[in-house]
Amino acid sequence: MPCFFGIDIGASFTKLALYTEGNRYISDRFETGKLSPRTLLRKIGKQIRELREDLCSNDRGAIGIGVPGFFNRTTGKIIRLTNLTGWQGIAPTTVLSHETGMPAYIENDANLFALYVLFHELKLMRTNAVCFVLGSGIGGGIILDGKVYIGTKGFAGEPGHIIIHMDGEPCGCGKRGCLEAYVGGLALEKIAKKQLKRTREPLPYDFHFYPDEIYRLKDRHEAFNTAISISQKALAIGIANMVEIFDPEYIFIGGGFLSQYPEFYRRVFEVTRGYISSPRRRIKFRLVKHSEQAVVKGAIFLAKTKSEEEKDD
Ligand SMILES: [Zn+2]
Repeated sequence: MPCFFGIDIGASFTKLALYTEGNRYISDRFETGKLSPRTLLRKIGKQIRELREDLCSNDRGAIGIGVPGFFNRTTGKIIRLTNLTGWQGIAPTTVLSHETGMPAYIENDANLFALYVLFHELKLMRTNAVCFVLGSGIGGGIILDGKVYIGTKGFAGEPGHIIIHMDGEPCGCGKRGCLEAYVGGLALEKIAKKQLKRTREPLPYDFHFYPDEIYRLKDRHEAFNTAISISQKALAIGIANMVEIFDPEYIFIGGGFLSQYPEFYRRVFEVTRGYISSPRRRIKFRLVKHSEQAVVKGAIFLAKTKSEEEKDD
């Protein structure tokens, strides 16, 4: 059986995974920031060579790579990655192909999340869906007629930077009022701090502004309650705007942001319905559970589909 490897390059950790014969799932991870990009890629390449020798047949197989940011679709070279430096101009596909002798394909991590949803949740159904991935910020992917839509230059599906508030809060991208200025770990911390200045509520001296901590204390602190409501309302507006444009059958949400608290999202979905025009209100909302492996699994699907497409040509 040929082996298809998936790689998810993240700001803190890089994941490597594969399915072997009998559908056994194997995964490994590397600390991203501690190594230079080339050293990291070479280390992954070595690991792939070893796994392949132990577990895979000599058939060629392929590698799929997910990156948190933009790359050139012709050369595969990285343009910019979120929260990662030193990657500009590097083509992970070229380095890994060289290291392993296998073809490698690259895609934006949120599009791979959408690909995972398409394979795993939708079972390749020919339908329309919009996916939101929430962590420290927001990524997204669009599924149209059973295919992940990437746009003209591959940059489609960036719900984090649709403007939901005229002259609103500043966003990391340089604009104001983006969805990402209200939702995600970084935004929630900022909003909670702003609200605390207003209410002047005392906090434990060692309090950390993690989303889960803010959510846990929302019934005890008015500032946190308000911050959570602002975030929920903003996310609901963002989802409703995407629904008005794409008229999807499904909305999928995954990622680490408040994933321990499905009631946060249940409330978001309730509020969203109020913002959607009536013919679209039958939309199906789905939370993607255990989505921490979604991108790396999406990368495996990418490797498989791309290499099959090339075989057919
Ligand atoms: Zn923005």
